[in-house]
Amino acid sequence: MKPAFWKEATRRSWSIIKPEVERHIHALWEKPELPAMEVAAARLLTEWLRGSGFDIEAPCCGMPTAFIARKRLGPGPCIAILAEYDALPGTANDAVPYRQSRGQRAGHSCGHNQIGAANCGAAIAALKTMQDHKIPGELIVIGCPAEEIVWGKVGLLKKGAFEGVDAILTSHGDYQNGVISRPCQSVVGGEIVFRGESGHGGSIRKTNALDAAELAVQSIERLRAHHFADTQVEHVLRVGGGIPNVTPDEARVWINARQADYDRTSEVYDFLVDVCKHSAQLVGVSFQHLFVSATHGYLPNDRLAEMMMANLQEVGPPAWSDEAKKWMQSLAFECAPNGAFDLDEEVGLYTEGVDPYGQDDGEVSWQIPLGRVNWAYPQQVPLHNWALTALAGYPGSYPGPLMASETLALSAIDLMLNPKVIEQAKEELTERTKGLTLDPPRVGAWETLTQNPEAFWDATWVE
Ligand SMILES: [Zn+2]
Repeated sequence: MKPAFWKEATRRSWSIIKPEVERHIHALWEKPELPAMEVAAARLLTEWLRGSGFDIEAPCCGMPTAFIARKRLGPGPCIAILAEYDALPGTANDAVPYRQSRGQRAGHSCGHNQIGAANCGAAIAALKTMQDHKIPGELIVIGCPAEEIVWGKVGLLKKGAFEGVDAILTSHGDYQNGVISRPCQSVVGGEIVFRGESGHGGSIRKTNALDAAELAVQSIERLRAHHFADTQVEHVLRVGGGIPNVTPDEARVWINARQADYDRTSEVYDFLVDVCKHSAQLVGVSFQHLFVSATHGYLPNDRLAEMMMANLQEVGPPAWSDEAKKWMQSLAFECAPNGAFDLDEEVGLYTEGVDPYGQDDGEVSWQIPLGRVNWAYPQQVPLHNWALTALAGYPGSYPGPLMASETLALSAIDLMLNPKVIEQAKEELTERTKGLTLDPPRVGAWETLTQNPEAFWDATWVE
């Protein structure tokens, strides 16, 4: 089959699916759900995929909000497209270019509503092309819960969801329209629980759990410059008492360490846990470490990136309307009143540097070649901020994820028709990991997140 023919055919299939992608971006955005609690999102996407001809396994791997949608059309490569659909606490906003006070409600401030719909739409369009033109191969969509705590794909990998997959394709919103072949950060995280005794705040506070938590955080900050200046550390104090005159009997600190190198990230994380343990001993309270998850940063794959870049060029940059750009400009101004409006309107291939975030597909990319395409949001609109929630629900922003969706559909068909690219991508992965022994996937909070995720988000969980 000539490239001009299958590209044209795939783009036609995709344009038929496009209104459904837009509808699902909106439907997911309307009902943001916290990581591991994405019941409605998983149902919405699996119903769409089932209605489009995929066989559904949901839930899968013992994870209630994970799914696999699969269709095999004769012998050929097995290509997986990933879907994400979780939201973040405390970042809710309507799709308006100004901030609203929405308390601790969840919002799609990482745009996973756009990823979930764009990536599923790509698979549906690719399957339609395969069926219409008798292209053999196996196409699957893996529905990945709890990306925001870098947990879902690590668990899915551990449970075998990726077995038999030859190559993986995915997308994310970012600050450029491009194919990404550069690493991102590894992340290791968990929660420390300090437990003391409650009592009247006026008496001597011998067993104040908050003292231990604060001592630990201060110590970490003091040690940072000399002990782990190469690694970012972030924390939140999830439990720290309810009223000053009751000595807090429990305090919880949730900590992440992050940097490109996985082993170093793990080493720093272990050190942080040790600091917490010693702080508990000094204060005389008990200590419990609740591990959550660890993920490698992304292992780039230039061969897949090259293939995807050719398809991205075919699609071209997002076709934002003038009205949409004006809206985004007013949102950007709310976020950065003194900053110039900066929105990438080109497409490019990004191979230099390290992206300053972690993603749990990084863990999978060390086992199976993984290719990614990103779309741009305005530079002034921070990810994980109310403004990104507003943007992810604003239809004028959809051309970004739509560009990614169409590129993924083309890339999936490209791989089905050119298994040689897969072989080369696998050889590249082997070369990049030569001589390395990889830790097996590490996930914690398993019982909690699969059986009682509310306890995780209420900060009452123990394992
Ligand atoms: Zn994200």
